[in-house]
Amino acid sequence: MLSAYRAMENIRSGGGATLAASALRGELRIQESMRRHCSWKTGGIVNRFYIPADLADLQNFLRQQNTDEPLYIIGLGSNLLIRDGGFSGTVVLTHSALSEIELQSSSVGDVMWVEAGVAAPKLARFSARHGFEGAEFLAGIPGTVGGALAMNAGCYGSETWSYVLDVTTLDRLGNLHQRTAADYDIAYRHVALKKESQHHRLLPSDEWFVAARFQFTQGDGKKSAETIKDLLKKRIASQPLQQANAGSVFRNPPGDFAARLIDSCGLKGMTLGQAQVSPKHANFIVNLGDAQASDIENLLILIEDRVYEKTGVRLQREVRIVGDTLK
Ligand SMILES: Cc1cc2nc3c(=O)[nH]c(=O)nc-3n(C[C@H](O)[C@H](O)[C@H](O)COP(=O)(O)OP(=O)(O)OC[C@H]3O[C@@H](n4cnc5c(N)ncnc54)[C@H](O)[C@@H]3O)c2cc1C
Repeated sequence: MLSAYRAMENIRSGGGATLAASALRGELRIQESMRRHCSWKTGGIVNRFYIPADLADLQNFLRQQNTDEPLYIIGLGSNLLIRDGGFSGTVVLTHSALSEIELQSSSVGDVMWVEAGVAAPKLARFSARHGFEGAEFLAGIPGTVGGALAMNAGCYGSETWSYVLDVTTLDRLGNLHQRTAADYDIAYRHVALKKESQHHRLLPSDEWFVAARFQFTQGDGKKSAETIKDLLKKRIASQPLQQANAGSVFRNPPGDFAARLIDSCGLKGMTLGQAQVSPKHANFIVNLGDAQASDIENLLILIEDRVYEKTGVRLQREVRIVGDTLK
């Protein structure tokens, strides 16, 4: 374990910020297609794609970059569309890099310390295996813990941040910070660092999650494992999981469901290029095979316009779209 974990310990004592830059141990790819890293199985090419070896290596990597290099951190790309013109900057992958998870005792009882690249379903199963309840909802969210923190991912009445004790973040200069929920504005699928809690000159978008401590309720692990099975069955029955997708594309408006509104406008099954409003779940857009990112984005715009014209409701996107359109 745990060079990354030792680095975490360092920052708690203030040592992490003083690590010297040294040889990188991760993998740098040039001109990487984002098709391979986004669950929609489409997307443009990024100039540079870095897979760090661990947290200390990621810190080093950041210290060696110009601060004006555009940087984007991704987990499993399950809520992400990179436009067809790609991203002229560096994308950093946390999944498979920041991958440690462990049960720790703390002043508030046993907690789960999880690095940001761990898949959310793995945290759900880990929690059940150790006799905790509460993490089951994460089993059906096919992203990383970092992505779940960034999105305040949730379902079936539960949300990620309800269980967060504290988080460790990394800024562009490679420095680590300890933060709690009080440092963020947190709402439904929304998390933003409060301005007054910034101890440095960087923007909130220049700080990323590298680990978190979660506190779930000690209970019946077998019951939790059963609940996970039931939730997954429910998802298989209601979501188009055989086709490439990015989950719900729109947030639910207050007191309503985006899927209901889209369906009520007769848009289920609507196809644009190789992108389709799923006939199984109207808030999902599926890739029929060879969709361009532009097919998906144009279909999103079409849905937004039609729903607004017919219902007066402006749907808000849940999915993140970045990069350049093809010239
Ligand atoms: C079949 C399916 C079902 C889904 N069901 C749900 C659901 O029930 N509920 C739900 O909320 N979502 C759901 N999603 C959407 C998605 O899985 C979640 O939003 C997930 O939390 C995204 O995690 P990720 O690692 O894939 O993030 P990515 O898609 O890689 O990134 C999403 C955003 O998070 C940012 N990000 C990623 N990692 C970090 C980090 N370490 N620090 C800071 N920012 C970061 C990225 O920059 C990007 O802006 C579903 C998706 C699919 C495909």
